[in-house]
Amino acid sequence: MYRPRKSLGQNFLQDENILRKIIDYLHLQNGDAVVEIGPGQGALTKHLILQPVTLIGIDIDERAIALLRETIGEKAIFIQADVLDVDLKKLFDKCGKKLRIIGNIPYYLTSEILFWLFDARKYITDAVIMMQLEVARRLIAPPKNKEYGILSVFAQFYTECELLFKVSKNCFYPKPEVDSAVVHLNFKKTLPHVDEKMLRSVVRATFGKRRKTLRNGLKSLDYEDTVLDRLPFDLKKRPEELSVNEFVELTESIRKILYA
Ligand code: SAM
Repeated sequence: MYRPRKSLGQNFLQDENILRKIIDYLHLQNGDAVVEIGPGQGALTKHLILQPVTLIGIDIDERAIALLRETIGEKAIFIQADVLDVDLKKLFDKCGKKLRIIGNIPYYLTSEILFWLFDARKYITDAVIMMQLEVARRLIAPPKNKEYGILSVFAQFYTECELLFKVSKNCFYPKPEVDSAVVHLNFKKTLPHVDEKMLRSVVRATFGKRRKTLRNGLKSLDYEDTVLDRLPFDLKKRPEELSVNEFVELTESIRKILYA
């Protein structure tokens, strides 16, 4: 055991029921390739090694890696790294199959970790992730809801996502300031046809000016009025009124006008 470091988001899960519940929700199959984000002191890892799977744990803290190697040994592969620097394609190639992701992740990195997963979606089947409750609610929020935003659009664009259950702050040591929730993200096998880079800039630019009209948001991307005027969309609407599909259609309409 070692002293938790707040700067690394170290809140260790202590509740055996919750640990078991998370593992159960994964429905692990014989031979699955599982990547654990931030195994820490091994609360989830200890359960995972009892399953007939290949397990790879990634933690940035050298104290965690030393402890895990000592207590878990050869039953899993441990990598000391910033998870965002890990190339999931390499792990996919090494395992020869798509990856299943699990983790009680450091909350300060939630958005970055989600986008890191979205970028590697071709190599991932699904993910079961513990995150801050407020963020979990944002992932599943529908349009016209105050929690609907950039994360909702992309979580719902790339995955079928479900809030599985809430977890009280009392289940951790040290106790965090916020409640948590476990979310399942099932990566879609096919996505609508759209220029993803452009979709990201359209969604970011329009939500960047929340409570402003779509026209105002799009203007920050330097699109000329002549382009905006030709869009078959009511640009007086606000970004939170658009469904994920409408964002896709809006992006495709812009692309067609620009590159026609
Ligand atoms: N899985 C353990 C548990 O449930 O008790 C620990 C969870 S703790 C919330 C988050 C873990 O992520 C810590 O072990 C921390 O060292 C690790 N971590 C923080 N930042 C990281 C990063 N950038 N890359 C990889 N691991 C990181």
